[in-house]
Amino acid sequence: MNQTKDSLKQLFNNLSENDYKSIADFHIHTTASDGKCSAKEIIAQARAKGLKHFSICDHNTFDGYKDLNFNDYPELVTGIEFDCWYRGIFLHLLGYGADINSEDLKPFLAKNKAETEKDIVRIFSTRNVPKLIEAIHQAGGLAVLAHSACCWTINHEHFVKCMVDIGLDGLETYYPYRRHRGIIKFHRARSVKKIAEKLNLIKTGGTDTHGSL
Ligand SMILES: [Zn+2]
Ligand SMILES: [Zn+2]
Repeated sequence: MNQTKDSLKQLFNNLSENDYKSIADFHIHTTASDGKCSAKEIIAQARAKGLKHFSICDHNTFDGYKDLNFNDYPELVTGIEFDCWYRGIFLHLLGYGADINSEDLKPFLAKNKAETEKDIVRIFSTRNVPKLIEAIHQAGGLAVLAHSACCWTINHEHFVKCMVDIGLDGLETYYPYRRHRGIIKFHRARSVKKIAEKLNLIKTGGTDTHGSL
């Protein structure tokens, strides 16, 4: 916690693909959205597994963090996963390292529980993506396109470039595409990695677990 944007970038840049299989998980859901375990249960599991860096990323809410004293959890990076549409594409945008009490982000947060857990409600999201990315930055955070290979884009590199133009910082690159929730994958994980490297974006990763770790 309390990293600057640069030190957080550094942290992501220092992690390897292997680290995401062993010591890092930057995409975990809790009961604050549609996950099955509470934030405290997830933290206990993360410690038991020996994770050195992790992040709780609930849909449109920081509620999972509200009872936590961040000084007790130095391995925790704040996170959130917003539902949005951009240029006709439905996407999930992750925000890392943002101040959970940021006034800039408040207008983008869920107004009720359904907006954190019901797909059918979340798909009607009207968040303005350029303004959201700006707000994430204002709150001290980084904006990362979640499970990028699942985006229904025709030319993914072009779409990512358009997002970089409005401030995107990274792509979620290390993600369990093959065994995850039956979500249709539109692009190859390897091509996501290439795009991230070509455009000099940070590469993040996580399990996107909605159960236990
Ligand atoms: Zn997602
Ligand atoms: Zn997720």
